[in-house]
Amino acid sequence: MNQTDRPAVAGGTPIRATPLPYGRHTISKDDIATVTAILRSDWLTTGPTIELFERALAQQIGAAHVVAVSSGTAALHAACAAADIGPGDEVIVPSLTFVATANAVVYRGATPVFADIDGETLMLDPIAARRAVTERTQAIIVVHYAGAPADVAALRALGPTVIEDAAHALGAIGPDGPVGSRSRLAAFSFHPVKLLTTGEGGAIATDSAEMAAVMRRFRNHGLSSDAREREHAGSWQYAMTSLGFNYRLTDIGAALGLSQLGRVDVLLRRRRDIALRYLRLFDDAPFLRVPRSDPERSAWHFFPILLEPSALRISRDEFIRALRADRIGANVHYAPVHLQPFYRQRFGTAEGQLRVSEDVAARLVTLPLFPAMTDRDVDDVVTATCRIASWFAA
Ligand SMILES: *Cc1c(COP(=O)(O)O)cnc(C)c1O
Repeated sequence: MNQTDRPAVAGGTPIRATPLPYGRHTISKDDIATVTAILRSDWLTTGPTIELFERALAQQIGAAHVVAVSSGTAALHAACAAADIGPGDEVIVPSLTFVATANAVVYRGATPVFADIDGETLMLDPIAARRAVTERTQAIIVVHYAGAPADVAALRALGPTVIEDAAHALGAIGPDGPVGSRSRLAAFSFHPVKLLTTGEGGAIATDSAEMAAVMRRFRNHGLSSDAREREHAGSWQYAMTSLGFNYRLTDIGAALGLSQLGRVDVLLRRRRDIALRYLRLFDDAPFLRVPRSDPERSAWHFFPILLEPSALRISRDEFIRALRADRIGANVHYAPVHLQPFYRQRFGTAEGQLRVSEDVAARLVTLPLFPAMTDRDVDDVVTATCRIASWFAA
């Protein structure tokens, strides 16, 4: 590694000949065969594969009930419905997350109340959350950021229902077992960049049979039975008992998910090994910090680093531009939700409201991490990052 080389952005040769994305799905021959078989079957949606997928997922997570839906966003929406969030309610949410976390609250006609994060873990700070609780607080949504398990117990102690946005955290291990195993409501996503994919898809794990039933109706227009149940019963009658949506996962997606579930432990192991390699290679780098987590317990959805502004002559945005010139697909997770134009206009949120979230969001860089990455790919990312940092050292 010659780190005194010129970065590509300063006229040097790019570290890589081909671009490295920040995330990418992994599809096997078995996945393709399983999906093809579904295309030849009687049910493309609302068929038997949904139940098989739900059961396998419940076993993987260690959850009492799992309800599969059409996206992680639908999972969050369904969880908010199950938690009986409605107009007039407040829901405490972090701002350093994907917009869908807060949007789910708005779908229910409730008000998201943004609370600050812990600067070490980048997750909802229980002390800030406690300060945000009012008599109107119906729930708290916590994000298992980057796949590291959040301190759910500390939030549960505050009283309101805790909904876990576990979109990054399938396979993560918290203090009382796998994320989702003891949850009231934990929402997962199966978007292609996530650990396991169904194309688009999501699921909610819950310890409540009653909430599972609510969410099964919610994903199917609020109907008390689905097409296959009616066919089995030889019945054509149905009753709509509440307002629901078409949030059904397809059998095509469920088959892909079921196939992927068969090697989820291998995918997870590879993610952890990549993260461990990053941690080792960046160990004494003075220009960055990695958020605190136990690397063997995180699901490592991506690899976040926090740049040290005093060590660099360039901004975070320039740093990302430099990485991209070296063909490293760097990204930012996330732009704070409370600073999005919609939230400013609708809820009057503004700069200065969340000191830690805003400071962190201005320094964050997401580095590539996905199971198909080779050790060489990881080394390329580290070489490029260190080369840029030393060229532009303060
Ligand atoms: C991916 C993601 C979602 C939304 O999941 P979709 O399946 O894309 O709808 C929600 N929250 C977080 C934190 C995510 O990363």
